[in-house]
Amino acid sequence: MTKTKNSDKKQPKIPTELIQRYYKEIFDPGDLISIIGLSTFYRREFAFLLERNIFVRNISFKDTRELIRYMTTNPIRLSYVGAVYETPPSKQLSIQRILWESREFCFDLDINDYDLVRVCGCQGKEQYCSECWSLVQDAAAFLDKSLREDFGFKDIVWIFSGRRGFHAWVRDAVGGKLSQLQRNSIVRYLTLIKDETRTQAVEKDLKNVIPLRDRIIEMIAKSFFTRATDKELRVEPFRFTGKQIERLRYNLKNSSRPFHFTYDTILDSKKNRDNIFTHIIKYRFPRIDRKVSIDIRRVLKVPGGVQGTNGKICCKVDIKKIFKFFPENAPTIFEYFS
Ligand SMILES: [Zn+2]
Repeated sequence: MTKTKNSDKKQPKIPTELIQRYYKEIFDPGDLISIIGLSTFYRREFAFLLERNIFVRNISFKDTRELIRYMTTNPIRLSYVGAVYETPPSKQLSIQRILWESREFCFDLDINDYDLVRVCGCQGKEQYCSECWSLVQDAAAFLDKSLREDFGFKDIVWIFSGRRGFHAWVRDAVGGKLSQLQRNSIVRYLTLIKDETRTQAVEKDLKNVIPLRDRIIEMIAKSFFTRATDKELRVEPFRFTGKQIERLRYNLKNSSRPFHFTYDTILDSKKNRDNIFTHIIKYRFPRIDRKVSIDIRRVLKVPGGVQGTNGKICCKVDIKKIFKFFPENAPTIFEYFS
């Protein structure tokens, strides 16, 4: 596994004219429409970060032509899209003054939310390596499966967020109508780390989280053990013997049976198996940005838009291929204009 650190910091600022050219010549509004739909487009809120850090919101457009005209005639650094309102948002009719109608149920996974448990040494919003990027890949796969199997959502689109993670857009109509309270309940169910910015304490009585428990073993624990070194497995809380490590490695490589058979066999003899489970959760369980998911008026980067700092396109990512996707695979604005 390569441990080269990737950083966007050294990249030059993308000229605004180049961003405008991208929206004029390359940007396909069809991709955006395939996510947010056409019938309510004119009542969607859009927001933009302009040059000199000016942030504008409460903007709506009659159609995609009008949106593109705006994006190609204003000094845009980043573009965002928010909720659908009963009437089109505008300066005069700001989103606080009009009725909220719906907004996709969205999730945000960011690599820097794992800073306290990134053992590779990467930190902050700009650094990642294949080792720690696997944390957000695992999180996306786990979250996608949980939303489908535990809540019945079917239409989930994954977007590379341009820099440090993924956004999920749950497009099912029922998801779009969920209240803040309902979104919060779902996010709470999917959150096991109590204080993500400090203690990283694991929250619940894990024996009671049955659907998550099985999935954690199949997806998160399996991933943990696949990456763990012998040295790690010989010390607390694991204290695996050479034989146990050998068995674990052999099964991870050769067994086609679900991973819990291996997990249970090896851990059955351990008095501290709950501590081991908690340890795995602490180091690998998904960190979901709660605010993004529960705030029904939140704006999120426009799928297909450009990340103004590094020129990367916020592209769709097929969840089935999530483990093959790294930020350097995202198309960049430079590919189109070299
Ligand atoms: Zn790293």
